[in-house]
Amino acid sequence: MDESKARKLVNKYIKGIRNGLQLWQWEINITYMHQEDALAELKIDAEYKKANIRINHDDHETEADLLRTLFHELLHIMHADFELYRDQVWETVSKRQAEVLDKSYTYACEKTVGRLLAIFEHGLGYDIKQFVKRTNYVNDKRLS
Ligand SMILES: [Zn+2]
Repeated sequence: MDESKARKLVNKYIKGIRNGLQLWQWEINITYMHQEDALAELKIDAEYKKANIRINHDDHETEADLLRTLFHELLHIMHADFELYRDQVWETVSKRQAEVLDKSYTYACEKTVGRLLAIFEHGLGYDIKQFVKRTNYVNDKRLS
């Protein structure tokens, strides 16, 4: 998918996904890139609630694929308070221990995000567009 199409799609859906995941306090910056080995990269500053997502638009063929990646990264942000815990643990252990702990931490995060995504897609039967539609409906009702 070319960058402009990816950008339009993200701009159309990110607000609804953020609302649905209650990420209102977060400053989230999206950029686009091409990289061989990752669909996206995420950098989080949990203390200041800032995140940068770099999306590899070239490796997404469909809208559903790209929205799934966006949703995946936002699910990481949803449980980013654990980043603060990890950072504090890192300060108390050796570099080697931190490396080992980081592998376990990353594995646990990916598993958690995968399970949350499966709950939305298979448990609730929502694709991301349906999730946003439902979120907008609930928010409109709450505000009226
Ligand atoms: Zn991930």
